[in-house]
Amino acid sequence: MRKIKKDDTVLVLAGKDRGKTGVVRAITGGGDLVKVKGHRPKVTEDKAFVTNLNMVKRHLPQRPGVAQAGIIEKEMPMPLGKLQLICKSCSKATRVGFVVRADGKHRVCRKCGQDID
Ligand SMILES: [Zn+2]
Repeated sequence: MRKIKKDDTVLVLAGKDRGKTGVVRAITGGGDLVKVKGHRPKVTEDKAFVTNLNMVKRHLPQRPGVAQAGIIEKEMPMPLGKLQLICKSCSKATRVGFVVRADGKHRVCRKCGQDID
């Protein structure tokens, strides 16, 4: 279980968007073992795409079959370690804890102790 999930509101701790908050649009990784020729096998780092943060401009040439061309802006994924969850109950950036109850494992806010989900 990850500390950060899709649709969480997060605070960015590093990079050009440090201090900004956004909503997680997608999470990549998942601990897949990636094998690339000439490189040691590596476990992919979990990263999050945060809506409208860590944007980059990409210059896409006109290509047959590809509708997008020109200069586009897109989000780049950020490592989960550079993000901190914002608690819905106390609306503070917090560390995430886990509790196991009869109905399963839950994330809890380390500041106010409330369940996150
Ligand atoms: Zn809280």
